[in-house]
Formats: sequence, C-alpha cells, structure tokens
Amino acid sequence: STLQLSNPDLLKQSCLIKDGWHAASDEATLEVNNPFNGELIGTVPSLTTKDVNDAVAYSHEVQTAWAAKTAQERADLLQKWADLIDANKEDLAIIMTAEQGKPLTESRGEVGYANSFIRWFAEEGKRVYGDVIPANKSQLRHVILKQPVGVCAAITPWNFPAAMITRKAAPALAAGCTMIIKPATETPFSALALGVLAEQAGIPAGVIQVVTGKASTIGDILTGDARIHKLSFTGSTEVGRTLMAQCAPTIKKLSLELGGNAPFIVFDDADLEAAADGLIASKYRNAGQTCVCANRIYVQDSIKDQFLDVFVKKVAELNVGNGMDDGVDIGPLINQKALEKVQALLKDALDKGATLIAGGSTNNASELTYNPTVITDISHDMDIASEEIFGPIATIFTFKDEAEVIRQANDTIYGLAAYFYSGDYARSWRVTEGLEYGIIGHNTGLISTEVAPFGGVKQSGFGREGSKYGIEEYVVTKYWCSDIS
Ligand code: ADP
Repeated sequence: STLQLSNPDLLKQSCLIKDGWHAASDEATLEVNNPFNGELIGTVPSLTTKDVNDAVAYSHEVQTAWAAKTAQERADLLQKWADLIDANKEDLAIIMTAEQGKPLTESRGEVGYANSFIRWFAEEGKRVYGDVIPANKSQLRHVILKQPVGVCAAITPWNFPAAMITRKAAPALAAGCTMIIKPATETPFSALALGVLAEQAGIPAGVIQVVTGKASTIGDILTGDARIHKLSFTGSTEVGRTLMAQCAPTIKKLSLELGGNAPFIVFDDADLEAAADGLIASKYRNAGQTCVCANRIYVQDSIKDQFLDVFVKKVAELNVGNGMDDGVDIGPLINQKALEKVQALLKDALDKGATLIAGGSTNNASELTYNPTVITDISHDMDIASEEIFGPIATIFTFKDEAEVIRQANDTIYGLAAYFYSGDYARSWRVTEGLEYGIIGHNTGLISTEVAPFGGVKQSGFGREGSKYGIEEYVVTKYWCSDIS
C-alpha cells in the first residue's frame, strides 16, 4: 500500500476471527479503493459461509468466560484499547481518509469521538444495576438481575467507519457480550485496525471478531443463526427492513439506526449568523453523507433573503478536494452510485422548478468530488424533498408560521434528527414537543456525543446508542422469584 503509516501493521488485510488473523478458507478477496483517486488501498478476505459460521461458534464458546469477568476487569481491557487508539490516532485517521474520503481533520475528530464511546462504556459497565422489589407475600423475594444478552452482531456503514463500530462494540463488551462485526464493504480497514488494537490490548480472542466479505452472505448468517441473540445495525432503512425480517425467525433483539430526512428550521427570531454556521456544520460535514445531515431547510418567509445572503457567503468559503490535503472541507462522495443519486435528485428538482443558487456540478479535483450546492424554490413534489440526499446539496424551503412548519417537518417516514434555530423560549418548548424526532438540535447543528442517547423514531429505527441508555440494548432482565418459607 502507498499509505504512509508509522505503524504499517495497522493496515490488516486479513480478518480477526477465531484465534487470530485469517484469510478466507478459499483465499478469495475483495479490493478496497480510495474514493478520491480510485487507487487500490489493499484487499480484504471474502469469507466463506463456513468461515463466518466458525466465527459464530467461536464467539458462542468464549461468551460465558467473558461474561464471568468482573465489570472492572472488562473496563481495564476497554481502557487499554482506548489508550492504544489514542496512541495510534494519526494512523487511524490516515486509513479512514484513504478508504472513506473525509478530510483528515474530520477523521481525527471521528477517531476521538469513536474512542469516547469506549471510555464511556468502560465506566458505564460498572453501573448495570439490578433491583430488589418489595414482596407482595411475606415469604417471597423478588430480585431483578441484569445480564448480558449473549453473542451480538453488528453491521455498520461506511460514513463513520470507526465510531459506528465502537458505539456498538463498547457497550456490548462492557455489558459482558461478545461481538462479531461486519464493517461496510467500502471501509473495512478502519474496522480491522481497531481489531489489531483490541487484540494488542489483551481483549481475549473471540470477544471481538471482524468479518469481511459479501454483505448478503454474512448478513444471512448474522441474522439467521440462533446462537446470536442480538443484532445492532446502522445503515439504510431499506436494508434495515430486510435485516429485521431476516431476524424474525430467531426473534433477535434488535437495534436499528436507519435513514433520516432531517428538517433544519430557521425562525425569524433566530440568530442568523449562528444558524448559518450550524447549517454549514450539519449539512456539509462528511460531504453531506451522515444520517443526521440537514436534508430540508425551512426558512421563515420574512428572513429568507437575509439568511441566504449570510449562508451562501459561508458556502463559498468551503474547499473541495483530497481529504488528505490541508484546508480541504469537503472530500469525495463514497462511490459512483452516490454521485449519480445526487445528480439525479438535483436534476429532478431543477426540472420541477427549483432555482440553483450555488454549486450544481462535480468539482474538477476528482471524479467523485461535488461542489457544495444550494437550491431554493423547493416544493414537496420533488424527490429531493422526501429522499435522503446523502450529498452536499442544501435545499431551501420557506414557511409562514410555526404550526405549518412543524406539520411539514413531520411529513416524512423518517424521525432521526431535527434542528431549529429560535431565540424564543416558549416556542422552543412547543417546537421540541411537536417534532416527531429522536434527536432535536436547538440553536446547534452538532448533536452527537457519547453522553447522550442517539437514535430515531418512526422508520428511522429504534434503540439508542451512547449514554446510560446505550448499554441497556445489550442486557436482558431476569426476574428471580424466591420462596424462603
Ligand atoms: P449505505 O446506504 O450507507 O451504504 P446500507 O444499508 O446499504 O447503507 O449499508 C450498511 C451496511 O449494511 C453495510 O455494512 C452493508 O455492507 C450492509 N448490507 C447491505 N446489504 C446487506 C444485506 N442484504 N445483508 C446484510 N448486510 C447488508
């Protein structure tokens, strides 16, 4: 590989399964390319059905011993893992930018963010308290135990190649579960590098395994095997539906973090400068490829021109290019399919009467880089109004009053994140209560942190990640009824 890493061993081209690092038993591999320049970064195993079944068996075997450790013992191992991630932060960021495309500053930020979940849940694992319930008969005792759910699986997307893994793996491990991780086909190297460091930290073989290969082959096993008790998935609503159906026969416990269609509302009583900054952060981070990116921007009639002025000036300052270069704000889209989707959504909007204010084309830095784009005069019959854009296009709607905008904001199958800017206290309560979303950003465009619960409602899924709620997804409640007469 051409990557300049201080620790080249972090770029692993084999899978962490069973007792260590293995190729596919039939030696099959998949290529991983840099989305900015198409260069081959390396190959990863395309595991066979038997390889993945063996991994499940291994997880199942070591589950009991892992669960039998004290929470402090597990915390010590997790903290060692986090220390190693910190020590290798720059290499992890380079690997991430190479396979994902996001600017290095964002990759460094993500590695820190990913690690915050490991440190948080290392601590939180010590606070998985049970309960004693006052008895309803004098000879009875009612005791509630919280126990690990068992072997878990995670299927994760390419937009946050490290953080989407740690916010599942850390609570699972802290709670006493083992976990098999299937990273996105586009970004396996970040996951494998985390595996290298987990092994180095002394996390026992089989407690974390990383499997790569054909998504549907691996997905069939991780959803179908009865020895796996829980699946946590982050990705599209479409794939989430399929996986949920596949989990039905074995009644798996599920967490689904699916697509979003985030409204971003700017009221006439907002600080417009702050709202424009928040919108830049929420819209263009990761080239618009996050499930909490502003997807529909609603600006109150009376301040539309004023707001657009401020916003468009900030958009003009964004630099598009190679994420490895200093000063780049927007890297490439992940692949050709993503680019085509962005182009098709823009064309449909312009054909139906939208007005192009900025951008609207690919950037000549490379085939997959796209200029930050702003369009206005959006109507709800345009595809861009209902579909998750996953690209750097800001779509500006206007609205007259609060009740109307809440109704429009809720008019979607999704319910992940919503944002609004307002300086009015009573309105802020009304809007927060009225928006059917799992996460509300008020006067901020950045809402993700390990201390707070992340997750959606409606067809954005269920389950929460991060915070004290995040570990509940990996424990089950056991009720002990004891007659001591
Ligand atoms: P995105 O649009 O972000 O790529 P996807 O839902 O397609 O989201 O992918 C998220 C994750 O789901 C990736 O790891 C991908 O490889 C995996 N995946 C896609 N299709 C399937 C499937 N049929 N079974 C299991 N995993 C799948």
